Amino acid sequence: MLFDPAPKDKREDFFDREEEIEKLKLLSSPITLILGLRRTGKSSLIKIALNELNRPFIYLDMRKFEEKRSINYKEFLIEVEREINKLSSKFSQLIEFLKRIEGVSIMGNQVRFKWQGNERLSFTSLLEALNDFNKDLIFIIDEAQELIKLRGIDLLPPLAYAFDNLKIKIVLSGSEMGLLYRFLRIEDPSSPLFGRAFLKIELKPFSREEAIEFLKRGFSQININFTEYDKVYEEIGGIPGWLTYFGYTYSHIRDLRKSLDETFSFAKRLIIHEFENFLADKGEARKRYLNIMRTVSASCSSWSKIKRELEAMEGITISDSIIYNYLKHLLDSSWIVKNDDVYCPSEPLIRKTFE
Ligand code: ADP
Ligand code: MG
Repeated sequence: MLFDPAPKDKREDFFDREEEIEKLKLLSSPITLILGLRRTGKSSLIKIALNELNRPFIYLDMRKFEEKRSINYKEFLIEVEREINKLSSKFSQLIEFLKRIEGVSIMGNQVRFKWQGNERLSFTSLLEALNDFNKDLIFIIDEAQELIKLRGIDLLPPLAYAFDNLKIKIVLSGSEMGLLYRFLRIEDPSSPLFGRAFLKIELKPFSREEAIEFLKRGFSQININFTEYDKVYEEIGGIPGWLTYFGYTYSHIRDLRKSLDETFSFAKRLIIHEFENFLADKGEARKRYLNIMRTVSASCSSWSKIKRELEAMEGITISDSIIYNYLKHLLDSSWIVKNDDVYCPSEPLIRKTFE
C-alpha cells in the first residue's frame, strides 16, 4: 500500500523511483551516496534494494544520534556490534573472520568489541574482516551526516581504505547534504577521500504531476474516491512522506480540511523537534537562526534583507561573516535553499512551520 506510513521495503508499495532503485542495486562505485531532504524515501529505497539484492549487509541507523551533540567511539561501536551480531546469527562462519582481529572477543556466536586502550578495535580491520567473510557484503550507514559528531576516531581513513582496496560496498545516506559533504570532506585536498568518484543518487521531492499521480494511485488502491489533488499539492508540496501521511489520514477521517490540518500539525511537531536538534549546539545564536527562518518563511529573502531583519531584532550591527556562517549552516542542513539570489525554506511545510 502506498499510504502505509512506515518506510517501505517492497517495490510494489513504493511509487516510481524505478531508476533510483536500479541505480542503487548496481552499486557501481565502492561508495554510493543517497541524498535527499527528510522523508523523500531514502531509507525505503535502501530497504527495497537490500531486499531485492539478497546480499549480506550491515545497516546502521544514525538517526538514533540526532539528539546528541557528540558521539564517542564506544557508542558508535555498540551500534556496529549489534548489527554484526545480527549477521553472525545468520552466518556463523563470520565469527571465524572476526576472531582473527584485535579488539574482538567472542562468546558463542556473539562478538564484543573493545573501544579503549591499545587493543581497541580498528575500524579498518573490521572492514577487512567483513571483506574476507563475503565480498558481496553491503555496509550501509543511514543518515551518515550524524557521524560528523563522532569523537575519538576518524572514519575517513577506513572509508578511503575500503574505497581503494576492498570489494565490499558502502552506502551512505544523508538528509543534510551539505553536512554529509562536510563530514566526508570530498572537496578538501587533504581529505583521505579527496578525488574519489562516488555514485550519487538524489531523491527529489515529487513534482506536481508526480504528487498527483502518487495520490491517485494510493487512493485507487484503497478504493476511495478523491478529486482534490491540486489542493493537496498546493498546501503540502511534493515531499513523499507528508503526502503519504495525508493519504493515510484521509483514508481514516475522510475529510479534506481536517486531513490537511492534521498532516500539517503532525509535520509541524516533527519539524520543530528536528529544528531543536539543529539548534542544540548553536548556543546564543538560536534566536538568530529562528529569526532567519521566520524571515525567509514570510517571503524568500535576499542576503541584505536577512541582515536587516537580524540587526533590527537586536538593534546592533552584525558582521557579514557571521551572517554568512548562519546561512551556511542552514543551507548545509537543508533547512533553506538558495534560488538565484534569495533564500527560501527548502519545502512548503517548513515554510508553514515558521511563518
Ligand atoms: P527518508 O529516509 O528519506 O526520510 P523514508 O523512506 O523514511 O524517507 O520515507 C518517509 C515516508 O514516506 C515513509 O512513510 C515512506 O513510506 C513514504 N514514502 C517515501 N517515498 C515513497 C514512495 N516513492 N512511494 C511510497 N511511499 C513513499
Ligand atoms: Mg530515513
